[in-house]
Amino acid sequence: MAAHDLSYWRDLSSRLTLPNEAFIAGQSAPASDGQTLTTWNPATGEALAEVAACSTEDVDRAASAARASFEDGSWSRAAPAERKAVLQRLVSLMMEHQEELALLETLDTGKPIRDAFELDIPGAAGCFGWYAEAIDKLYGEVAPTDGDNLATITREPLGVVAAVIPWNFPLDITAWKLAPALAAGNSVILKPAEQSPLTALRLAQLAKEAGIPDGVFNVLPGHGHVTGQALGLHDDVDCLTFTGSTATGKRFLEYSARSNMKQVWLECGGKSPNLVFADSDLEAAAKTSVQGIYFNQGEVCSANSRILVQRDIKDAFIERFVAAASQLKVGDPLDPTTDVGSLIDTDHASKVRGYMSLGIEEGAQLVMGAAPSGEEKDAFVSPALFNGVTPQMTIAREEIFGPVAALIEFADEDEAVAIANDSIYGLAASVWTENLSRAHRVSRRLQAGTVSVNTVDAIDFTTPFGGYKQSGFGRDLSLHALDKFTQLKTTWIRL
Ligand code: NAD
Repeated sequence: MAAHDLSYWRDLSSRLTLPNEAFIAGQSAPASDGQTLTTWNPATGEALAEVAACSTEDVDRAASAARASFEDGSWSRAAPAERKAVLQRLVSLMMEHQEELALLETLDTGKPIRDAFELDIPGAAGCFGWYAEAIDKLYGEVAPTDGDNLATITREPLGVVAAVIPWNFPLDITAWKLAPALAAGNSVILKPAEQSPLTALRLAQLAKEAGIPDGVFNVLPGHGHVTGQALGLHDDVDCLTFTGSTATGKRFLEYSARSNMKQVWLECGGKSPNLVFADSDLEAAAKTSVQGIYFNQGEVCSANSRILVQRDIKDAFIERFVAAASQLKVGDPLDPTTDVGSLIDTDHASKVRGYMSLGIEEGAQLVMGAAPSGEEKDAFVSPALFNGVTPQMTIAREEIFGPVAALIEFADEDEAVAIANDSIYGLAASVWTENLSRAHRVSRRLQAGTVSVNTVDAIDFTTPFGGYKQSGFGRDLSLHALDKFTQLKTTWIRL
């Protein structure tokens, strides 16, 4: 990576072949009705490709292919060690194509190439590797029955699993869903977001090359209200795993109720609090909190977008936070020295600026970042910090999903916890304190799926990730994710 400068990536992008067809039953194909959607480079405003926009007929075809492959057993009944070997080949292929995949991700989303290359692609490959390694080490159970009976409890794959995912970490979130689902023996149908279909389509080609049987791995790019809805309503999809907004998550619950009562697992929005106490290591807290909100342009579901700071240290915190954030370089995502790239598109950037204007109108002070002028045309938004935010303000309550932090002061521990928990969301939280008892006490009281102490957004393949309240339910990552993609079979044998 060190040897790769802006011109290297520009040159590579000029020679890149962009995948643009759906992937069904092991074959690339246009949408059955020939419809396409345009995927854009948000950093330049240029169209990248016309990609198949799949219809309900394509969803039917993919569901039939997935079902047939599941029933034929070539994957679903293969020995776990066989599935492991194939998934490990996929990991190798992903890492062989690390540059290409990173470039596709950056062109499609505007995220910095350094992050795509160093984090997104190795993270996605590592996730496939982790579940590949895990799957041939899982045993069933024998129940403690009386001596005249034997009862075994075994896990079986569910069947056809559909995954509908967002645009902020396209390949990573794909891996979080598909790696455990495939390792467990399911056949999958993936619908990437309209804005970012490219890496998913390339992954399908690599999966075929790795030896995943035809029909086991299908990718249907398309519109949410068409392709996503058809998957949610399909009677032959057994499980729908989703990451995206809370509003869309609720729709999937409805789709399930209106169709075959498929299992639905939701990873939705967040408004995560970051609690900085006066007894914290202030320098570390300020510096790391910058990453907590501005990493990936703030387009992170668990972004620490509410910074709760104890009154006595507020000014000292702001000074250090602004000093650290000012070092961030906003610019061309293909430049490896860029820290903050462009947002996903100009519509989203306008939405983020709209929240900033609302913050100003409601009386918060913009202490860092550019006040919206209404004249902006591009998708770049510089890191922004609001001081003087109260818990009732819109920027303290709604998910902005951009590089905008709301700083709220508190007097003591009880008030901090009350403000932190006063949200419809509960995805993540951070706590900064050097007091061990406080760290434990506050962590227990916070309503969040993950609490990071003296760091932000701690995450690993080994630990579950997911939310409380309207951030969703079910967990990605760790062995717990396998619960979503398997069902328990009890077998009684009268001896
Ligand atoms: P979104 O809900 O608009 O879209 C997500 C996916 O759902 C896309 O593939 C989209 O095509 C599809 N979709 C949209 N409308 C649909 C409909 N009517 N029926 C079926 N499918 C539909 O979300 P987004 O704007 O792409 O992503 C941002 C959101 O995702 C934020 O709220 C963010 O917090 C959330 N997110 C959550 C996590 C998590 O793990 N909890 C991770 C990343 C993003």
